[in-house]
Amino acid sequence: MRRKLAAGNWKMNGLSAALDELAAMGPAADGKAEVLICPPATLVAPAAALGLPLAIGGQDCHAKDAGAHTGDISAAMLKDAGATYVILGHSERRADHDEHDEHVREKCRAAWDAGLAAVVCVGETLSEREAQNTLDIIAGQLAGSLPDGATGHNLVVAYEPVWAIGTGKVPDVDQIGEVHDFIRARLEKRFGEGVGRSVRLLYGGSVKPGNAAEIFAVSNVDGALVGGASLRADDFLPIIEALN
Ligand code: PGA
Repeated sequence: MRRKLAAGNWKMNGLSAALDELAAMGPAADGKAEVLICPPATLVAPAAALGLPLAIGGQDCHAKDAGAHTGDISAAMLKDAGATYVILGHSERRADHDEHDEHVREKCRAAWDAGLAAVVCVGETLSEREAQNTLDIIAGQLAGSLPDGATGHNLVVAYEPVWAIGTGKVPDVDQIGEVHDFIRARLEKRFGEGVGRSVRLLYGGSVKPGNAAEIFAVSNVDGALVGGASLRADDFLPIIEALN
């Protein structure tokens, strides 16, 4: 049985006062579903120090352990600050920082070496979907973003259509199901049925309290990676509840 996962990606949002929102999410995090919040790097340590029954993650890490990389953060540093997960290959990283599959792959290896679980993001742009290339794009990103020797353990895959992120547009349930079933089949092929079936698949892109239950009912959707609606407890709690 895969444990459902409600993951929040705070992106570049959150000053110290946001820890109050996190604290308000705490009690609901003790249920059936696992809850993960990925605050900005500045809040990883204080968020973890709250000792809430939820996991804390980073939003990116460098591929190296340490060294002359001004402004970067290593997986070991995230782990040391109390993180247990890291999001990798988010489309905003791919677009804003010119990250490609090969970078995501190296970061993934670094995350696992440091003892973090990786939430690897894949997703097509609108023009790729319109050109009916969605499954090819997903297949390529999935194959390219996971390092050789990956075992399928400590891995979560998030399907996030780029055109659905922060736009209020959501694919219909058939479209979500098609991609999630496809990713599941790919994982089973790569890692074997048992492990391939154990990897959790999240949908991300404009998940809100009003659409969460419908999305969570889709086959092979094991939870969500939520941006905007994870910032406030009032929005995120009903999404967690929809998984419990
Ligand atoms: P959104 O972002 O929920 O604000 O659309 C999702 C994400 O980018 O992970």
